[in-house]
Amino acid sequence: MSLLNDLNPAQRKAVLETEGPLLVFAGAGSGKTRVLTYRIAYLIQEKGISPWNILAVTFTNKAADEMRERVEHLLGGSAKGIWISTFHSACARILRQHIDRLGFGRNFVIYDEEDQERHLKAVMKELELDFKMYPPRAMQSAMDKLKNEGITPDQYRPSPFNLFQKKLALVYQRYQEDLRRNNGVDFGDLLVMVTLLFKKCPEVLKSYQHLCRYVMVDEFQDTNLIQYRLIRRLGEGHQNICVVGDDDQSIYRWRGAEVGNILNFEKDFPGTKVVTLEQNYRSTRHILQAANHVVRRNRLRKEKILWTENPEGELLTLYVGEDEEDEANYVVRKIAEYVNAVSQKSNERPVRSYRDIAVFYRINAQSRAIEEELVKNQIPYTIVGGVKFYERKEIKDILAYLKLIANPSDGISLRRIINHPPRGIGEKTVESLLAFSREKGLSLYEGMREALKEDWLSSGVRERIRGFIHLIEELRQEAKTLSLSQLTLFLLTRTGYLARLKEEGTEEALSRVENVEELLSLLTALEEGEEPVSLETFLDRVSLVTSVDLYEDRENRVSLMTLHCAKGLEFPVVFIIGMEEGLLPHYRRGEEIEDLEEERRLCYVGITRAKEKLYLSRTERRSTFGIGRANLPSRFLDELPFELIHVEEREKKEDSVFSQEAFWREDVDPSRDEGDSRQEIVTWIPDGFFPLRTGMRVRHPKFGDGRVKSIEGMNEDQKATIVFASVGPKRLKTRYANLEILE
Ligand code: ATP
Ligand code: MG
Repeated sequence: MSLLNDLNPAQRKAVLETEGPLLVFAGAGSGKTRVLTYRIAYLIQEKGISPWNILAVTFTNKAADEMRERVEHLLGGSAKGIWISTFHSACARILRQHIDRLGFGRNFVIYDEEDQERHLKAVMKELELDFKMYPPRAMQSAMDKLKNEGITPDQYRPSPFNLFQKKLALVYQRYQEDLRRNNGVDFGDLLVMVTLLFKKCPEVLKSYQHLCRYVMVDEFQDTNLIQYRLIRRLGEGHQNICVVGDDDQSIYRWRGAEVGNILNFEKDFPGTKVVTLEQNYRSTRHILQAANHVVRRNRLRKEKILWTENPEGELLTLYVGEDEEDEANYVVRKIAEYVNAVSQKSNERPVRSYRDIAVFYRINAQSRAIEEELVKNQIPYTIVGGVKFYERKEIKDILAYLKLIANPSDGISLRRIINHPPRGIGEKTVESLLAFSREKGLSLYEGMREALKEDWLSSGVRERIRGFIHLIEELRQEAKTLSLSQLTLFLLTRTGYLARLKEEGTEEALSRVENVEELLSLLTALEEGEEPVSLETFLDRVSLVTSVDLYEDRENRVSLMTLHCAKGLEFPVVFIIGMEEGLLPHYRRGEEIEDLEEERRLCYVGITRAKEKLYLSRTERRSTFGIGRANLPSRFLDELPFELIHVEEREKKEDSVFSQEAFWREDVDPSRDEGDSRQEIVTWIPDGFFPLRTGMRVRHPKFGDGRVKSIEGMNEDQKATIVFASVGPKRLKTRYANLEILE
């Protein structure tokens, strides 16, 4: 029974409780995933259950891989036969066997996102729906939502007063019919169709209930309705369902996850045994305390106790960067320190490899500054569950425009954007233009110009091509006078690229907008540098970054990922960057209490990934859309007890009155947590200190209302740059400015 020796009594109970419904409800790092893996090993090794009778479902492919590895390690050999999978791949596998029962061929194709989009647009065109009025992405996400709720086109009842819904019903119906004609399914269909299959063919359901005698689900708090229903059906007969989860880590509400699933499990499965785990094995005491302090502010949660026997560990470190470049520079410096530190006897910190370190951020666009700094320092990195900044679709699109402006012969870039945004120039036209150019020995662009003189193009197509050439010529003309960022902004507006993304309004489109904004701020920053950067230099620089991935060691890399991707993982050293209001909590989500609490859970997930050391950082100024913006410190920073934080001083070029420590302390609002030791600290204000801080709203007798953008200098010499609504930015000596503080 050596297996059980590695577990504490509560974990052991959860492993031994193999029959009947079981809910393991516990906080982060308490061994939930460990219980699942040990349970699988125990079933096979001790109870003689065939691996084929076990189904374990997790959320991401990475998590599934890790679970498989852990089980293999425990069994001392292959985990062959055990079905460890994500929901989607499990469903795909079931459909491969039985989809003919639903009138599809077993050789069906699964459409990826791009196929889906193309398909949907074709349907909408057929129905003569205006993309402006009904953005395809919005349709797509509305359809996905229906699918997540298990609603088929026949079941969907649009409100008769809602035009969008009425069109959606039409589109959804037609879209599904077309997929069927193509013998294809999209991602969301996988789950819906298995549900239909089980309903239509009880004997198929029975065979799976028989096959999957032991069903286990990790990260159960993030299942949506249809996933939950599937699990319920599979467990109906034998009831051997074990789900593990933590309501404090539910972070996919916006994608239809139902925390209710975990909270109602006991009701849905009468006789459920509940095991709670309270000991955290992952993190140091300091990290765990910090996490508990943050999450306990949430009102909509079940109270849980979480403690650890782990050592106290180092304090959390907070760094306040000047801007995102400074923040990135700090993070990368620290990473290098960890890895390059030759183990000094006096220093108890273990020497680390890159793979022990992770950087988390709230939105994808934040990775850009970190990536560049890593590349500069030749530190290998990988983006987990995402795409590197310069490889993102929207960034590549913009770069293609820029490349084409710099070099119109670049046929590859031209092909990328000729119909993007859509201009009614189809693949076929491009092919024939290409053949024509080749024949004439011209570049595609030149060939297009030539073709205008010929008569083999229909007049409609000719007009569209003329329009396109006109656009590119106009951009090239503008490029002569505009700066790089202005040019980019111009092309984004002129082509309607940005407007389209904004109209779509989906989660994904908005994330793309953020990436575009990030590119713009980078360009602006480059222009502010000592040597203004030309279009060509910039493009060279980008191609260096994108082709730099030559590192040999595929394993030993720093991991970069969004907080959402970090769920379930753990790293000795963790950085969470961008601890600012607006970013974390992210404002896009809205200001409802549920939204805020979900953001807080996300922060909790981030903190609890760290085993030994947690770094938090924020910046005084972060540029978005090329505009420097002062973000206030995240309220989650305020929620951390001051004693747990070490504030790292910035290596300063110019002196700021806001020594990092003072800055941070001053932000703490003592009224939020009475009886906290922080209260005394807040009253500490140096002599002559003018209590301004970045982000503050102020009123000036002459210029009116404005916001403090940055502050420099000490006491009497303090100067502040304030952006006034009336006159724009002004740099004033605060002592004489007669400012009134508005908040
Ligand atoms: P999360 O909520 O983040 O998904 P979790 O509850 O799934 O966390 P695990 O990942 O299973 O937690 O465990 C966290 C860490 O603690 C792992 O490194 C695991 O190996 C270790 N651990 C868990 N239980 C024990 C134990 N009884 N003895 C030693 N180490 C343990
Ligand atoms: Mg886990």
